[in-house]
Amino acid sequence: MTGRTGVQDAIAKRQIRVGDLAVQGLPPQAIASRLGAPLRIVRSDLEAMGFELPTRHHRQCGSTHGYRQHHKFGEKPCDACRDAKRKARGR
Ligand SMILES: [Zn+2]
Repeated sequence: MTGRTGVQDAIAKRQIRVGDLAVQGLPPQAIASRLGAPLRIVRSDLEAMGFELPTRHHRQCGSTHGYRQHHKFGEKPCDACRDAKRKARGR
């Protein structure tokens, strides 16, 4: 035995599927619902595999609401939203 657990195998298999779907151009949110995995997990898998998380622009961009929208969709917030978030925080 190598000490590799079934849990680690399951994680590796999920990461492969996440990677496959990401290569096909599916956004993290769609991958999460396809695999029945939490968005948070899909994002961390993508990051672990070195995928750039896609960033789209939303109508609410440039506000803290826009910032939250990016997170909701599993995206990296755009510059305008990061700015708004930083200002809202009062530096
Ligand atoms: Zn934005």
